[in-house]
Amino acid sequence: MPEYRKDIILDEWVIIATERAKRPENFKEQIIKVDNKALNVCPFDRGNESMTPPESLRIDNRGNEVGKDSPWQVRVVPNKFPALVPNAQPFSQQYGPYMVMDGFGLHEVVVQSPEHITNISELSRWQVELIISVYIRRLIAIKKDNRIESVIIMLNQGKEAGASLEHSHSQIFALPLTPPNLMNEISRTRNYFNQNHRCAMCDIINFETKEDKRVVYENKEFVMLQPYASRNPFETWIVPKRHDSNFENISAQEANSFAQCLKVLVDFFYIDLNNPPFNYYIHTGTLDGTKDNSHYHWHLELEPKLSIKAGFEIATGIDICITTPEYTADYMKAGDFFKA
Ligand SMILES: [Zn+2]
Ligand SMILES: [Zn+2]
Ligand SMILES: [Zn+2]
Repeated sequence: MPEYRKDIILDEWVIIATERAKRPENFKEQIIKVDNKALNVCPFDRGNESMTPPESLRIDNRGNEVGKDSPWQVRVVPNKFPALVPNAQPFSQQYGPYMVMDGFGLHEVVVQSPEHITNISELSRWQVELIISVYIRRLIAIKKDNRIESVIIMLNQGKEAGASLEHSHSQIFALPLTPPNLMNEISRTRNYFNQNHRCAMCDIINFETKEDKRVVYENKEFVMLQPYASRNPFETWIVPKRHDSNFENISAQEANSFAQCLKVLVDFFYIDLNNPPFNYYIHTGTLDGTKDNSHYHWHLELEPKLSIKAGFEIATGIDICITTPEYTADYMKAGDFFKA
């Protein structure tokens, strides 16, 4: 059973999940050497559905939810090697000076295509729209469980970004707590709101669209920009223009605009930047209803793995970015990808 642990120095939860050490991918290099074909079968391909745990959602190519055995375009299944498990109790207890809690939560995989594709950029625009709609559906369904406090939707692109199976997939983590990065954003923007009576992200959008140095792309509903205090070369945010704390409140029209932004961004990374590894994740307000998130502004962050965090970054938490976001934004706008 995985567990959450928290010490009294950093006061932040970690997950200890030894189940994941048994993942077959850990031995993959060895397996490839012995060329064991049976182990190279992809569990996410059409026809191999029985290799995954029973699915929580299956949709067809028109975006309709369909039953098992029906032809599918996107499937959501529990992770076979989960970092968190649903059959645990989310109650923390003291252990010496520490806190410990069973590793309760959901850890799901969104299989993004029945064909064996290895890059999200190989998905068409409508396939990206389907995936966005699946994110929203799962978020709305997961929200009904009042033990869940926050949901992180993310994608690892490339082995160096943490993708352990090459078949393109996203992951959904539902947690009984708010993870430190999201907690920091929510509490710091709350402070900003209390001081200025305005949303921090709305202020960023207003300033950035006027100044036009770091905005890469814009459509009716979204702004795509390189953050002023960029932590990595080509770090990019996709931010809705309409203030809302929670991603699942997105309208159908906004979801299409969001998919358009995401598609153009992943295409740029794949084609122009030669397919570097990256992670993207959606930061959305917490779900438990007891915390006021109304000041918070949901968004997607994409962080390419174009530089390695060294001792200074790890020791201090201060990232050293070797390009300016103004320069990378100019570079992105100079190509054909982000022409409105
Ligand atoms: Zn596959
Ligand atoms: Zn806002
Ligand atoms: Zn964020």
